[in-house]
Amino acid sequence: MARKSPRSRKKRTPASRVPRASRTRATPRTRRAAARARAPSRGAARAAHPAKRTRRSVQAGARALTRRPRPALVRKRPARFAPPDPARIEAILGILDRAHPEAQTALHFQNPLQLLIATILSAQCTDERVNQVTPALFARYPDAAALAGARREDLEAMIRSTGFFRNKTRAIQACCADIVSKHGGEVPRTLEELTALHGVGRKTANVVLGNAFGIPGIVVDTHVSRLTRRLGLTRELDPVKIEFALMPLIPRDRWTVFSHWLILHGRQVCVARKPRCSICPLAPHCPRIGVTAAS
Ligand code: SF4
Repeated sequence: MARKSPRSRKKRTPASRVPRASRTRATPRTRRAAARARAPSRGAARAAHPAKRTRRSVQAGARALTRRPRPALVRKRPARFAPPDPARIEAILGILDRAHPEAQTALHFQNPLQLLIATILSAQCTDERVNQVTPALFARYPDAAALAGARREDLEAMIRSTGFFRNKTRAIQACCADIVSKHGGEVPRTLEELTALHGVGRKTANVVLGNAFGIPGIVVDTHVSRLTRRLGLTRELDPVKIEFALMPLIPRDRWTVFSHWLILHGRQVCVARKPRCSICPLAPHCPRIGVTAAS
């Protein structure tokens, strides 16, 4: 007689004795999974019962066969910017020179520090308004040390009418403190040193260099940005990029006056909303790029 193995001799525990917690209960989810496992796959079902060919399915098949492949999306490359013709630039410079012989900065100043402070004040403000404020300001605070050490409330009250007076007061005092601590109270004469001063960007630095020290610099303000684009001298929007785009086009000795010409022309003729193209002497040389309404 064959002997029973220890495993076969082991008593089976009746189901009733299995603790309730360890018994797996059928849930709707497990029931659905079990039904899916029992059901034949879709492929097998299709093989067993091939779909009926309806009129609609035949038409869809025909459409699929005749459908042309969709062309790949081709991104249009912007046309390359053609550098302006030097003869056209020379003609523009000559016309601007004749049209605005009086071109120079409208800000009143007697030394580089006064021009620097007046330029900071001219942000979002007219030059006329700045010129009304600065005589009293410079009489009371004649140098960088005096401005840096002024009572903030007093300075704010004096420049209030130029707008953004709190920010401007902060910028003036921080800039003057830098001038005193790093340059012995004298305004520096290089672009690098000027732009290292608190609150001084390339535009302000170029104004000071060109007008107080006679060192050429292209000042890119809102008028210069607008006019150089309309005239087709650049496509750039960023002031620093515009400045670098103009540098090789304009002779260096005319960088400063070129900015003055464009600022005056932008104020008087090529105004922002409706440029006066009908009376503009630059019209024969201007492609009027981006101009939609002119008078
Ligand atoms: S022609 Fe018109 S767009 Fe061109 S510079 Fe003159 S005013 Fe401006």
